[in-house]
Amino acid sequence: MTNANENSNYISGKTGDWEIVIGLEIHAQVLSSSKLFSGASTEFGKDPNHNVSLVDAAMPGMLPVINQTCIKQAIKSGIALNAEINKYSVFDRKNYFYADLPQGYQISQYKYPIVGEGSLQITDANGEDKVIGIERIHLEQDAGKSLHDQHPSKSFIDLNRTGVALMEIVSKPDLRSPEEAASYVKKIRTVLRYIETCDGNMEQGSLRADCNVSVRKPNGNLGTRCEIKNLNSIKFISQAIQYEAERQVEIIENGGVIDQETRLFDTSTGETRSMRSKEDAHDYRYFPDPDLLPLELSDSQISEIRSDMPELPDQLVQRLISEYGITKYDANVIAEEKEYVHYYENSAKNRDGKLVVNWMTSELFGLLKKNNIQFNQNPISPNYLNELVELIENKTISGKIAKDVFEIMFATSKSPKMIVKEKGLEQVTDDSAIEVFVDQVINENNDKVKEYLSGKDKLFGFFVGQVMKVSQGKANPGLVNKILKSKLK
Ligand code: ADP
Ligand code: MG
Repeated sequence: MTNANENSNYISGKTGDWEIVIGLEIHAQVLSSSKLFSGASTEFGKDPNHNVSLVDAAMPGMLPVINQTCIKQAIKSGIALNAEINKYSVFDRKNYFYADLPQGYQISQYKYPIVGEGSLQITDANGEDKVIGIERIHLEQDAGKSLHDQHPSKSFIDLNRTGVALMEIVSKPDLRSPEEAASYVKKIRTVLRYIETCDGNMEQGSLRADCNVSVRKPNGNLGTRCEIKNLNSIKFISQAIQYEAERQVEIIENGGVIDQETRLFDTSTGETRSMRSKEDAHDYRYFPDPDLLPLELSDSQISEIRSDMPELPDQLVQRLISEYGITKYDANVIAEEKEYVHYYENSAKNRDGKLVVNWMTSELFGLLKKNNIQFNQNPISPNYLNELVELIENKTISGKIAKDVFEIMFATSKSPKMIVKEKGLEQVTDDSAIEVFVDQVINENNDKVKEYLSGKDKLFGFFVGQVMKVSQGKANPGLVNKILKSKLK
């Protein structure tokens, strides 16, 4: 079924609309203190070649030993992505030469991956739910890093990353726009962070994506794809896909054909360029690694992990909606990061959940952004946000004063009760005190009162404003309205 909104994802060319088809291969570094087949550390930021064992350096006669933590992490990730866990899987050698790959092959999984088909629910470009198919997840070794900018005539190799475990999560070609691709990557990152199988840190390269892009006439046959390698930010993923799709449309509309190739995204120009023509699987001469037995999992091993799974983002969103009465949109914003969830649930204890979510997502996130502060450096504790909302709920302060208090809390980390007390900001809810303000305003504005009484109703807002001003924002607006009405008859 097509609807008008769906068309907004299309690229309009001179021959009409084109649909973008995207499939992603996400490389997620497995959270584990040691590498996939060696005991070397995975710690980030160490001096070059500090985390290298003889196995990683591919010294002759060294044997790989499988790291059970990495296996467990892959199973956990598979369960979280609603995927089939394969009780039988095989590690293969994928042969190629590259300076940062001392073995001359990468140990990966090919025909028999550890995780089979699964799915992930995302939010599409129109804010609707959409389910994206997952083809497989396999385990493989990461390669090292060549450094070309350290010496005028030499290149250096850093093997710290060599042999670190990666999960390659391959999607079906179900994504239809750069926004959907971005939403998919974000959701994968959120899920893996929740279950603590990958830290999702894209700047450090722990999560990166190869983007396969093709174009076709709406709902036509799949076109030839190009694969854009190694994108490590959500912004670059979106930009690269859009550029690549438009490039392909232009070629086809000018009578050309798309060569299946591997391309690079140039972050400085926003363009993709050819890196090499696409190699086929047979070019790698895959074969089962003779140093490793096939991996066999037992039912109990899998069910033990399954019964130990933490709450997943989709379940959490449902719980936040029903427990706190917030909208799905807000629930999704909170669910994006675990630390948001902890903060929200602590600050919303015994409070109006909707009020708390508004303070958190608009005021707090706004100030953090404006001041360029990370959430984990947030100066307002959840207890104090809870306290602030309590002061609003029990009408000690008005919503407007609360904003001022909030800014002081942000700047000083002080308790809102303390701030309100020190500055005398309690809302005035005493009729006789408000009558004094009202009388003062009426006395000082005789002309306006006459105009009002002769029918200029619009002036009512003026009087309310004046009373609020005289009370320094502290008068209860409802009472001000009531008392003004009765006095201006
Ligand atoms: P390879 O190792 O050759 O890249 P994979 O099977 O690992 O092959 O990954 C192929 C990826 O390309 C998958 O994410 C898949 O969804 C995607 N894909 C396949 N065909 C197309 C197509 N015509 N357009 C866009 N993406 C595609
Ligand atoms: Mg690929």
